[in-house]
Amino acid sequence: MHTWQAKAEIRRYGKKLYAQRYLVANEGNLSLRLDDQNILITKTQVCKGELTRRDLVTIKLTNPAEASLQASSEYRMHLAIYQQHPHIKAVIHTHPPFTIACTITGAAIDQPILPEMILTEPQIAMVPYLAPSSSELAEKVARALDASRTALLQNHGLVTVGETLQEAFWRTERCEHLCKIWLLGHLSGQVNVLTPEQVAALKGLFLNRSTAAS
Ligand SMILES: [Zn+2]
Repeated sequence: MHTWQAKAEIRRYGKKLYAQRYLVANEGNLSLRLDDQNILITKTQVCKGELTRRDLVTIKLTNPAEASLQASSEYRMHLAIYQQHPHIKAVIHTHPPFTIACTITGAAIDQPILPEMILTEPQIAMVPYLAPSSSELAEKVARALDASRTALLQNHGLVTVGETLQEAFWRTERCEHLCKIWLLGHLSGQVNVLTPEQVAALKGLFLNRSTAAS
């Protein structure tokens, strides 16, 4: 992807994330893979709702030192994800309030309660608390994404990835929506969890539809 194109995409999605309040003030960070050697990432201390072209910095995957002072403090996490997952092209890290509320209370949001989530995000990873911006957190998050595309960070926030920023953004949106429903459901009373038979029937129906469409 050309750098000018990547800058436009990051600015567009930064605006959307800020408008939805998935991050506030100068929090959060997002990035795109430019090629095999470089990524484009938001700079440190900038508001993602008001990004200019100068608020983005290119980092080399193999030699991040020269650009790391300007980059988001979570640049290690982005680098670890891109280095360990060659197919991932976009990373979004946010602090959505309902998602964080679920991580603080230890809510089991990976239970099957919503058909859309069972079909689109069957695996949601939970990463135990580690200090933000640390190398330890970077490694744990990259490892958690071996089996998932969405990772909740305990007492901290959310990381979503995809082949495009749109994919990663939709995962952020879906996760926050699920956590909001989960919390409202538990505040209102007992939550109905779908049975293994209901989950199997749902997956069977979806698989049949996919087969029929292809
Ligand atoms: Zn954070």
